[in-house]
Amino acid sequence: MIGIKTPRRRAEMCLHRAMQFAVLAGVVTALAAPLQSQAQEKVLNLYSARHYQTDEALYSDFTKQTGIKINRIEAGDEQLLQRLKAEGANSPADVLILVDAARLWRAQIDGLFQPVDSKLLNERIPAQLRSNDGTWYGFSTRARALVYNKANVKPEDVDTYEELADPKNKGKVCTRSGSHPYMLSLIGSRIEVMGEARAEQWAKGIVSNMARPPSGGDTDQIKAVAAGECGVALTNTYYWVRLMRSSDPKDQEVVSKVGFIWPNQSTSGAHVNIAGGGVAKNAPNRANAIAFLEYLASPSAQTYFANGNNEFPVAKGATLNNPALSSLGSFKQEQIAVSTMGKNTIAAQRILDRVSYK
Ligand code: FE
Repeated sequence: MIGIKTPRRRAEMCLHRAMQFAVLAGVVTALAAPLQSQAQEKVLNLYSARHYQTDEALYSDFTKQTGIKINRIEAGDEQLLQRLKAEGANSPADVLILVDAARLWRAQIDGLFQPVDSKLLNERIPAQLRSNDGTWYGFSTRARALVYNKANVKPEDVDTYEELADPKNKGKVCTRSGSHPYMLSLIGSRIEVMGEARAEQWAKGIVSNMARPPSGGDTDQIKAVAAGECGVALTNTYYWVRLMRSSDPKDQEVVSKVGFIWPNQSTSGAHVNIAGGGVAKNAPNRANAIAFLEYLASPSAQTYFANGNNEFPVAKGATLNNPALSSLGSFKQEQIAVSTMGKNTIAAQRILDRVSYK
């Protein structure tokens, strides 16, 4: 389910060819437009909303393979989007990496990406994990799962998204803010599965089941479940795995009190989202940018990228190498294109407003 194994050698050859093309394209452009020679240096300006320990290995490996040096701007997703908009046509950004389809879609409709048109990326990245206009690609996935308090809640009462809205769970449900991209994407996918009217009823049901007004991030929901403040909560898988892998005794205590559930396993499957990226609209180093995205789809880079945040690799030929994440077992995934969830976030926000989901 994680990826189809292809011989590593073939993958490396493809990557090598892609790099040759990228370098050649750079040379040709430099000859044709000497005034832009500044921009044709072997550099890549990366705007990334991700920053993990394994990223160092990711970037130095890319530089070793291609000679292209990476200049990084790391900030939160929202800050990066604001910065790109403010910089406009003068932006030095070549590649933009964001988390969650809701944000990638936002950047797409704000015109912050340009089409990539890479045969290699189209082959390696599954179609449902890409934009609908060839601008951005998912490079890892995470699922939106359920966690419950083992002392107070029966797992069979909270093993579907639908049950979060069931009156039997009154006063037990905790979520982060409804308008956070993770929630907008989830509601966007619910609209696809249930239709807009039923998705609204569902959101309304959650609001009336809340243990407290939405607050905090996903880790805060897990901790509140452990503390008994909430019976059940939603979390992205990597937050749970991060706690599982923590050596802090307090985190271990949290993990011991909380049960993990893959939702909707006998129906629509667990909601899956992505971290991904594309080439920035005004990229001064377009060829280098494409070479970097193609590198991210290589088996070795996939391991760094996914493991950096306890996520699942997605490209063909990549395999999961994360025992804590693997220990959650395989699961049925919701089959909804991430671009559809992105598009539905507008309707999702309208639903939130109508049902007063803060
Ligand atoms: Fe996150």
